[in-house]
Amino acid sequence: MRYISTRATGTPERKRFCEILLEGLAPDGGLYLPETYPQVDAATLTRWRGLAYADLAFEVLSLYVDDIPADDLRALCRKTYTEEVFGTAAIVPLTRLENGLYLEALSNGPTLAFKDMAMQLLGNLFEYELARRGEELNIFGATSGDTGSAAEYAMRGKKGVRVFMTSPDGRMSPFQQAQMFSLLDDNIYNIAITGVFDDCQDLVKAVSGDLEFKRKYKIGTVNSINWARLMAQVVYYFAGYLQSTKTNDERVSFTVPSGNFGNVCAGHVARMMGLPIAQLVVATNENDVLDEFFRTGVYRVRGTADTHETSSPSMDISKASNFERFVFDLLGRDGARTADLFGTQVPRQGRFDLGADPAFAQAASRYGFASGKSTHADRLATIRDTWQKYGVVVDTHTADGLKVAHAHRVPGVPMLVLETALPIKFAATIVEALGREPERPAKFEGIEALPKKVRVMAPDVQAIKDLIAQACD
Ligand SMILES: *Cc1c(COP(=O)(O)O)cnc(C)c1O
Repeated sequence: MRYISTRATGTPERKRFCEILLEGLAPDGGLYLPETYPQVDAATLTRWRGLAYADLAFEVLSLYVDDIPADDLRALCRKTYTEEVFGTAAIVPLTRLENGLYLEALSNGPTLAFKDMAMQLLGNLFEYELARRGEELNIFGATSGDTGSAAEYAMRGKKGVRVFMTSPDGRMSPFQQAQMFSLLDDNIYNIAITGVFDDCQDLVKAVSGDLEFKRKYKIGTVNSINWARLMAQVVYYFAGYLQSTKTNDERVSFTVPSGNFGNVCAGHVARMMGLPIAQLVVATNENDVLDEFFRTGVYRVRGTADTHETSSPSMDISKASNFERFVFDLLGRDGARTADLFGTQVPRQGRFDLGADPAFAQAASRYGFASGKSTHADRLATIRDTWQKYGVVVDTHTADGLKVAHAHRVPGVPMLVLETALPIKFAATIVEALGREPERPAKFEGIEALPKKVRVMAPDVQAIKDLIAQACD
């Protein structure tokens, strides 16, 4: 298996999995994708029924990774996907709400959001590959919540890796702050920046933009465009399908609460591999960049003033950073056109329009995509309805998914809604909807009172660089 960039033209550079594992964007600014999608036939799918999640993960991953010995890869999967870390033996158990409507739980990992599904594997893959190369990596990032804590919980205690995570001082919820700042591991550096999230992102840009510093101190990231994260997410589409069907003649649909298009892009990859998925329904909140595209063919990046702060904050995006991968496939893998759209039109005009392109109609007809949008009022109503009808409390992001899923159900085709976080993370909105606090898993009882390790710093590039340099000495 080799990987190419979505902006590749001519005779593209073809890389192996471990070469792109620790990289972000391809040098031409594109995103990495496998050269072809491996096909999973009916006999294979039948053989996979009944596998434990970790072994299913090994089967899927070994189609994409040929530069880690099979026994090592299997061991990494088994070390990652354990009942101890993910709460149940099924890892991603289904809850049946009613006939043909299920929730697939992706949020029982250490930080109670679906990003753990991929990040926990990434932590083990990084540790393995860095040890093999005898190298170190300093992950430097900015977070306003989910991504940073998932990264810290994945990398804590890992050899060869340090995490420097900036967040806007005092702006995360008390629960989120407690989750991150209570990590006392030596290789985790929590940095509360006296400023807003944009100040944190500017620091990341400034530090990564100093190429000499970046090379000297091995600065890396773990953002959602990393192929290994996407690949890890493909597995739970297979697991959801296998749990909800008895034979391979059945098809199911998925509805995915979406922001950067990472989660649902993994569904697209699973479908391209031959998994019998009828529809992939993209659910957005008020930040409806993706819904607008799937309705009209127009992809329009939003400005800061146009980006809404919502009660499903992990879907508050101005652009969808993984979307380029799907557009590359939609355009018949035309790297030159993809480069023109994302490398020229988006930076210059902030938009492109495929509405009149025959390829656009194929997003639905050939690739199974549909979409919908949900607002704060929809979220409250869905949380209330789901509680009253099924006795289940869902979080705000999952509520967006359920709201949109209802509009796309087809008789005879089970609809699986991906549950992307637990309600406790967004307690204020649950109280607004139900008038009561959501349940708190036992292991999070009293975390606000735990000792915290965090440094408060001004948004000063040199001070941050000094901190990183000192830690590496
Ligand atoms: C990150 C996140 C999303 C959005 O996922 P994408 O891969 O960015 O589309 C949805 N819900 C929750 C809870 C998240 O943390």
